[in-house]
Amino acid sequence: MNNTTKNSVKRVRLDVKGRVQGVGFRPHLYRRLTELNCAGSIQNTTEGVRIEVESINENINLITDNFTDFIPARARVDELEITELEPRYESGFKILNSSSEGRSLLPIPPDMAACDDCLNELHKSSDRRYHYAFNTCTCCGPRFTIATGIPFDRDTSVMSTFPLCEQCRDEFENRKDRRFHAQTMSCPQCGPQFQFFHVITGEGGEGAASPSLLRGDAAFSAAAEVLAQGGSLAVKGLGGFHIACDAANTRAVSNLRRAKRRPHKPFGLMARDMTVAESICMVTPEAGKELSSERAPIVLLPKQTTELVCDAVAPNRDSTGVMLPYTLLHTLLFSRPETPPVLVMTSCNRSDEPIAISSETVKDDLNDMVDGVLDHNRPITNRCDDSVVNIIGGEPVVLRRSRGYVPEPVLLPYDAPAIFAVGAMWKNTFTLTSGRRAYQSQYIGDVSDAENMDYFEDTFRKFSNLLRIKPQVIACDMHPDYPTTRIAEKLSEDRGLPLVRVQHHFAHICSCLAQTRETEPVIGVSMDGTGYGDDGHIWGGEFLTADLHGYTRQYHFQYMPMPGGDKAVTEPYRMALAYLTDVYGIDRAVDIMKEITGRTGLDNIAMLIDNHKFAPLTSSCGRLFGAVASLLGIRHLCTYEGQAACELEAVAAADETQVYPYSVVAGKRENSPEAPGCLSFRETIAGIVEDIRKNVGISVVSARFHNTVIKAIIDTCCTLRKNTGDRRVVLTGGVMQNKYLNERLLAGLNDCGFTVLRHQSVPANDGGIALGQAAHYNAVCKVKKNGQY
Ligand code: ZN
Ligand code: ZN
Ligand code: FE
Repeated sequence: MNNTTKNSVKRVRLDVKGRVQGVGFRPHLYRRLTELNCAGSIQNTTEGVRIEVESINENINLITDNFTDFIPARARVDELEITELEPRYESGFKILNSSSEGRSLLPIPPDMAACDDCLNELHKSSDRRYHYAFNTCTCCGPRFTIATGIPFDRDTSVMSTFPLCEQCRDEFENRKDRRFHAQTMSCPQCGPQFQFFHVITGEGGEGAASPSLLRGDAAFSAAAEVLAQGGSLAVKGLGGFHIACDAANTRAVSNLRRAKRRPHKPFGLMARDMTVAESICMVTPEAGKELSSERAPIVLLPKQTTELVCDAVAPNRDSTGVMLPYTLLHTLLFSRPETPPVLVMTSCNRSDEPIAISSETVKDDLNDMVDGVLDHNRPITNRCDDSVVNIIGGEPVVLRRSRGYVPEPVLLPYDAPAIFAVGAMWKNTFTLTSGRRAYQSQYIGDVSDAENMDYFEDTFRKFSNLLRIKPQVIACDMHPDYPTTRIAEKLSEDRGLPLVRVQHHFAHICSCLAQTRETEPVIGVSMDGTGYGDDGHIWGGEFLTADLHGYTRQYHFQYMPMPGGDKAVTEPYRMALAYLTDVYGIDRAVDIMKEITGRTGLDNIAMLIDNHKFAPLTSSCGRLFGAVASLLGIRHLCTYEGQAACELEAVAAADETQVYPYSVVAGKRENSPEAPGCLSFRETIAGIVEDIRKNVGISVVSARFHNTVIKAIIDTCCTLRKNTGDRRVVLTGGVMQNKYLNERLLAGLNDCGFTVLRHQSVPANDGGIALGQAAHYNAVCKVKKNGQY
């Protein structure tokens, strides 16, 4: 304030919301604003960050006009509110203590990969944090996975149990240091420590930790040795333990598959660095950006021929999921010469149960799977799997939204009562809303598994406490038998809260509307596996005209019996027989199935189809893909969700342009005046059978089938546009994870003049359902009750 006259002084308050806490926001702003000789203060609030700044007019205008130039690299501003205040003519700029007052709900930042500055210190032998695995700063390191409360601070994280040493305290308090107010910082003297121990499995299968704990370089050396010898190593990461093994070693990978009871589902990989990643996969610039981002997800990349990855890692797939080391513990492990350059890095659990977060679980329950454990003593409070991203149409598209993303909120269009949306069954996440903010939980997985259901309930308790949200409304799927539906019913009854049931494919569409902030009517294309429909049948190939408030079912894929019900999901040859029966009648269908796939013993299944018993009707697009995969002999029995469709996509020839015929017929509800139209693939199936008999290659047939579905979707959108005038199309549902299909749909619809709304930060699969349920109810509450419940 020194040389300024009183007249030209201005004071403003800036209320900033977005990714503004735990990313070095306050110290960065402190430095920038003191450089400009400003006075005032900065403070974390439960809503975000509040800044009061006073300086000459010119400075204040510079700050308010170009605010995003003043924020640190890993921060993001969603909302900025500027209020003019009376100047106080004070001097000095202060960082105030966090305020936990006010209407709650600040985003705890997601976890972030180690930054370059911390990485440099790790490798610099003169630095006091040389080889220190827990080096973090204001813009990197764990956040959500170690949080115990809000606002995010050292005291509201597990770091409160590691008091800063004198040297660290100096850095923490030094306004010029890059660790000024770095809440998670530590050093070898005061911070967490890692250790290694061998797991010895005794005769009776009883595991026991060997008494010798190794620390320092010896620990990494022993861990690397386990990997080099073809063993399995449990490694504690940010959101849980991984199991690592040499990706090049077929025996090691096969052993891990046996132990995890996971015969085919692809394993994620961690490559030592970008150069290694580029040698095993095709890395486009967009993919490279994702790989090295602070979110550091697993990115699905096209495979390249390499000796560093054996076939058992991702059998029958054309892509592999790869990530880069995102903690310094990983970096140190890879810096050992014995460590293989590419490791399988899969979550440490049995089958699809929750990922292990304590070394006790690893030692006691999973000891038959691992030979050694690289452990540390910084507790994990919030379990979090790795996120998975694919690059579709040149853009990153999230398939599993977890570490690095959670708990960043999505902003909903309306203010409404707090909603707890429980999601569906597979790939489950839930959503809690507060005002306009929708917080999606981390990936929980298949909640038909009892352990995952416990995880669901536990996470709901933690999440609602952490974010201080008390739901006033519960939303669930229409499916009566989903475990999440039962939880929702119970909660609604126990707490006397209203319960709303949201149709599955409408929820898929709403999730995309929420992510793209679209409130106008759209043509919703929901291509999916399974979802309970209004008519009691199983939907999944749906064209709904919709906005957040509601929908009309316009067209759907033809209904087909699912012989044996859910068994037809995991055994797609059942669907193949159902589709063949539709074309040729039951007797010829059995013969043709035998002829083209060599499969026999179909009489029981034929009977189910014939008798309409234990054969619920489905309009699912996913089932159609399964049927075709089986007809082509690619996959008759699945060991993981979506396997048949994924393997069918993997063989599709990129340059094939032909299509099979299909037709549009009246819907099954002929008596209804609003009978929806129905897309029949009878001629498509006949064309496929003909091609198989002519020995046309499976790559060509797969591509022609894909092209047919693409054409059918685009044609239907054009018809709907004619009828309704809507030009915006939402592409959603689990089938949209199919890159071949999604990219060609995108291009085709764009060519026809449509605006395509697509999933990016919210998954198109059932991981997005909860957000969709919440977004719908957010709109309903707003309209019906004006935000008051
Ligand atoms: Zn850092
Ligand atoms: Zn220290
Ligand atoms: Fe779905």
